[in-house]
Amino acid sequence: MKFNTSLLHTVKPDKNSRGETLPPVYQVSAFAYDSAEQLEKVFNNKAAGYSYTRVGNPTVDAFEKRVAALEGGIGAVACSSGMAAISTTLMNILQAGDEVIVSSGLFGGTIELFEDLSAFGITAKFLDTVTYETVCAAMTERTKAVFTELIGNPKLDVADIAGLAKACHENGIPLIVDSTTATPYLVNPLKLGADIVIHSSSKYINGGGNSISGIIVDGGSFKWGGGNFPQFGDFAKFGIFAFISKLRNRIWRNTGCCISPFNAYMNIVGLETLGLRMERCCENALKLAEFFEQTEGVTVGYPALKSSPYYGLSQTELSGKGGAIVTIRAGSREKAFALMNSLKYASIATNIGDLRTLVIHPASTIYTHSTEQQRLSAGVYDDSIRISVGIEDADDLIEDFAQAIEKTK
Ligand SMILES: *Cc1c(COP(=O)(O)O)cnc(C)c1O
Repeated sequence: MKFNTSLLHTVKPDKNSRGETLPPVYQVSAFAYDSAEQLEKVFNNKAAGYSYTRVGNPTVDAFEKRVAALEGGIGAVACSSGMAAISTTLMNILQAGDEVIVSSGLFGGTIELFEDLSAFGITAKFLDTVTYETVCAAMTERTKAVFTELIGNPKLDVADIAGLAKACHENGIPLIVDSTTATPYLVNPLKLGADIVIHSSSKYINGGGNSISGIIVDGGSFKWGGGNFPQFGDFAKFGIFAFISKLRNRIWRNTGCCISPFNAYMNIVGLETLGLRMERCCENALKLAEFFEQTEGVTVGYPALKSSPYYGLSQTELSGKGGAIVTIRAGSREKAFALMNSLKYASIATNIGDLRTLVIHPASTIYTHSTEQQRLSAGVYDDSIRISVGIEDADDLIEDFAQAIEKTK
């Protein structure tokens, strides 16, 4: 099956199906049983079944199965947000004293999360470029994971996942990839050697800008427990399912960051058009980027432009595409604001992956709590605008940006 067919046909309806074409929304908190014995079995993982939606729900399951299949993972765990997916993944594998090597070009919220984790004795070592060489050089005996984004939002750097996986595995640690902006349409990081893939499914997976959620996919490739991960204890005996068993039975359940069944349903609906949307958004983004490259008054960042330092990796790793985010620099903060305020179609909003084109000034919003150095390392300048390119007609978008740039002159 090719991509668009697989979105519709990989996961078969479950055996209780009445022929419905989409999974029903089980919008309930609890599931009742005929006997106390039955509920005891479900509680103790001795019988299949659902007890309470914070712990499991059929609609949520259906969403998790679809994303796991799409990424080529052995299982997935859905969360209330992308940030919940990132924080519970880290808490599932780290303990006080551990260190994570992190790429600097991260989503602002994730940078802040790593600061928050320092209160619990977990530290992050930020690298401006993450490659096999830089990661190997930064590795210490306290390093327990490498975390990167693909494609960096909004730095738009493209990490060499196979190289990073090699650096990690030579040192007995896992590679975690936040693949929100690449999406399974461009790449399956697990197939390149990543161990855990995370999505803010609020973005391209949902695709309509209508639900906040996140999802964690486990490749089942990493051997947990033992030397680097003694805290896995008894969970190590679950082998390839150790990560997900520990996550589901401990920190994910106990932090209570479950997704709502309704949001899981909205994501299932959205997921079915991921291929169509991404094809259109990537096409539009490339056309806009090419237009910006030829336009006086702005400079552009987009991985699939021949002038980008990431052009090579976009061709080999990202199916020759550059994703749906373009950044431009307008010359000054004032010009950036004037440009944004003059746009007719693009909405000024802090989101990506919506059907409509969205723009934001990252320095004054998402990175407002970051230091100057953090901003520069993340590729966020005072005159940067991030554009999340939607499915509008490219000609309309180009015309709109052209008139807005004209107004800044
Ligand atoms: C939006 C985003 C997040 C956070 O996801 P939420 O669903 O907003 O919590 C994490 N990583 C990336 C790359 C994002 O774009």
